[in-house]
Amino acid sequence: MQYLDQVTINDDKSVATVGPGSKWINVYKTLDQYGVSVVGGRGPTVGAGGFMLGAGGYFHWTGKYGMAADNVKDFEIVLANGTITNANAENNTDLFWALKGGGPNFGIVTKMDLYTIPIRNIWYQFGTYDSNQAPALIEAYAKWQNDGASDTRGTVGFVIGLETTFVGLFWSEPAEKPEPFAPFYNITQIEPAGTPTNSTLMELTNQLAFIGSEGSARHDYRAATAKVDVELYNDVYEFWKPKAQAVHNATGANVTFVFQPVPKSVAAASEEKGGNPMGITAEDQMWWSTTLDWTDAADDDTVRGLSIETTDKWEELGKARGSYLPHLFMNDASRDQNPLASYGEENLQKLKDIAAKYDPTQLFQEVQNSGFLLSKA
Ligand SMILES: Cc1cc2nc3c(=O)[nH]c(=O)nc-3n(C[C@H](O)[C@H](O)[C@H](O)COP(=O)(O)OP(=O)(O)OC[C@H]3O[C@@H](n4cnc5c(N)ncnc54)[C@H](O)[C@@H]3O)c2cc1C
Repeated sequence: MQYLDQVTINDDKSVATVGPGSKWINVYKTLDQYGVSVVGGRGPTVGAGGFMLGAGGYFHWTGKYGMAADNVKDFEIVLANGTITNANAENNTDLFWALKGGGPNFGIVTKMDLYTIPIRNIWYQFGTYDSNQAPALIEAYAKWQNDGASDTRGTVGFVIGLETTFVGLFWSEPAEKPEPFAPFYNITQIEPAGTPTNSTLMELTNQLAFIGSEGSARHDYRAATAKVDVELYNDVYEFWKPKAQAVHNATGANVTFVFQPVPKSVAAASEEKGGNPMGITAEDQMWWSTTLDWTDAADDDTVRGLSIETTDKWEELGKARGSYLPHLFMNDASRDQNPLASYGEENLQKLKDIAAKYDPTQLFQEVQNSGFLLSKA
């Protein structure tokens, strides 16, 4: 338990030990001085524990290294009977696999050893665009997904809001103007235009403090997945936009339409590192999400209704177009979604068997009121 929010590194800088309560910005700050980082979170204040049990991911070069949880060397965990044990590639290998995306179903993780990656100095550029540029940006984004995302040195953050749209171009090494991002360079930004910046991952993460909603009274995410399909992206965006504006006008809620790329290399990278329960297919994907932030509980149904209708439309249109994928990313899923079931029947059964083995009294199914529990999957 001493590791609650601590971060240390071993002598040869290959492994960082991180407490589950550590915020990602503190992890990057500690590792920055050693010239390395880990595959972790974007939001500086997000905690490492829950993030990792949901597999964790995105732009910390997931395309190259796999999900964050694929880069765990060892979990220290307290089981339901009070035993402190370790799960890694040699010991409790079934539990190790289950913890890489299986959620809060197996025990309390008290410490994680993470393989470091040799990334510190990076290039990035932020751009803010008028919301009427969203269709042009969606097209640029899909073009980058099809042509540019196979260069796993780069990734793109893309968040459409009601008034402005944000695009972050992120490159995992120093650069001038990475060529894979070409589809974005000629789209006019709101002045002052974002400055291409050579800096560090730690600085970038500091700048991303605007992600999320610390301080907002009520918050929700929601997840949906599809293959790369620019028409689907556009159709769902056009469906969402007037409804989102109406919900904003009625409740004051801040709502976004978020694109998160998962290149096909993620599946191979995960497999190479021992696999995880998520059952990700080896194809370029979009893990769509939305953030909803509002203040009044009386508006819960109105605000959440927007994202529910949007993911229903995503599923309907995606199925009709053959681009829908059932996978739901736990870290972006809403409380009524069922990410564990989306991993596929076989993986779900395996997770249940592992939970029964390590928690025979099913303590963690019974004492937890919330979270994505296998008993409810
Ligand atoms: C601003 C912001 C940015 C985000 N950015 C990203 C991102 O870039 N990538 C991404 O993948 N996700 C991202 N997320 C989602 C985030 O990963 C999830 O919200 C995650 O659950 C956060 O973990 P936590 O420990 O802080 O949360 P909690 O709500 O405390 O925990 C989530 C679940 O995990 C369980 N849990 C937590 N710690 C432990 C432990 N030590 N042992 C056993 N069970 C535990 C809890 O019981 C709960 O069920 C972001 C979220 C926010 C708010």
